[in-house]
Amino acid sequence: MSLIITDECINCDVCEPECPNGAIAQGDEIYVIDPSKCTECVGHFDEPQCIQVCPVDCISPDPAHPESKEALLVKFTKLNPA
Ligand code: SF4
Ligand code: SF4
Repeated sequence: MSLIITDECINCDVCEPECPNGAIAQGDEIYVIDPSKCTECVGHFDEPQCIQVCPVDCISPDPAHPESKEALLVKFTKLNPA
C-alpha cells in the first residue's frame, strides 16, 4: 500500500531526501507521494522512513492503493534492478 501525505503537511522538506525510492516530491501545495514508487520502504528499511521523520505525523497508508507485502517487494525489485 502506498502512503499518502495529508493536507496537514507543513512543507518542511524533511521527508523528501529520506525516501529511498525518490517517491516524494513537492506538489502544488503540499508534498506528494508517487504511488508507483512508494514501497512502504519494503526492501530498504523495516519502517517507512517518511513516517519516522515527519514532525507533524501527516503521512498514512493510502486505502486507494492496497498492495500486499509481496506486491511491494515486486515493486522494489523493479525500481531497484540488481
Ligand atoms: S514509505 Fe518509504 S518508499 Fe514510501 S514514500 Fe515513504 S520513504 Fe518513500
Ligand atoms: S515531513 Fe511531513 S510535514 Fe514535512 S514535507 Fe514531509 S509530509 Fe510534509
